[in-house]
Amino acid sequence: MEVRAVTVGNVTVGAGRPVLIAGPCSVENLEMIRAVAAAAVKSGVSILRGGSFKPRTSPYSFQGLGIEGLQMLDAARREFSIPVVSEVMSIDQIEPSLEMVDMIQVGARNMHNFPLLSALGRTDRPILLKRGFMATIEEWLMAAEYIVKEGNDRVVLCERGIRTFEPWTRNTLDISAVPLARMLGGYPVIVDPCHASGRRDLLEPLAMAGLAAGADGIMLEVHPEPEKALSDGGQSLSIPELTLMAGRLLNWMDTIPQYEKDCEPGMDGG
Ligand code: PEP
Ligand code: MN
Repeated sequence: MEVRAVTVGNVTVGAGRPVLIAGPCSVENLEMIRAVAAAAVKSGVSILRGGSFKPRTSPYSFQGLGIEGLQMLDAARREFSIPVVSEVMSIDQIEPSLEMVDMIQVGARNMHNFPLLSALGRTDRPILLKRGFMATIEEWLMAAEYIVKEGNDRVVLCERGIRTFEPWTRNTLDISAVPLARMLGGYPVIVDPCHASGRRDLLEPLAMAGLAAGADGIMLEVHPEPEKALSDGGQSLSIPELTLMAGRLLNWMDTIPQYEKDCEPGMDGG
């Protein structure tokens, strides 16, 4: 199946050259999101991310700044002229997000939240649908279908790792899901090596593996002081690390053959 490209602000995802998405796990204050946005733009990142409604495992962990965080993200988006993506967890968070974000993220924990998916299907905004950590590819594609059925076909999928028996990584990046979801669903697919691994030292090899498998983009978490981050510091790049890694990934993208990306699912020869 041909991949249908999705436009986010002035950026097109799924139209050949992969895109970089980067930003903090959570927007923590205006100063940090401005610092990350400035570095992202300089490094060739096309879309800025920043969570403000945060799905945390513990109810006692930092829950995000909510609307106030979205306003900071919106300020950075205007100052640096870069489209932004941010997560919603419930239907009531859609309305304020529509005013302040270019793309709405559905996190792994909400991939099965069907009323939320249907409500997002009634908006005109591009949706970044992360794979649930216990979801099969079929379930993920059906979740996307809940959005499309309501009239919004601007869906980008994000492979962010699934839960396995392996304790050295936070999740296990499912590389097969990248070409499969593209072929079976016709959606652009991006790879999130941060939540897949939980480890800064694995981000670059996993990002490269994703690109080699045909990913339409890579999403990275970045923080001015990762060791002090209120969420996901251990899997976040510092600003100098982002600059270096983005440079290497962008260079490497130019060498990846595109010829086999848009093929039909193959026979197994049996
Ligand atoms: C995130 O992107 O910060 C996030 C919470 O990701 P996931 O839903 O994949 O865990
Ligand atoms: Mn995170």
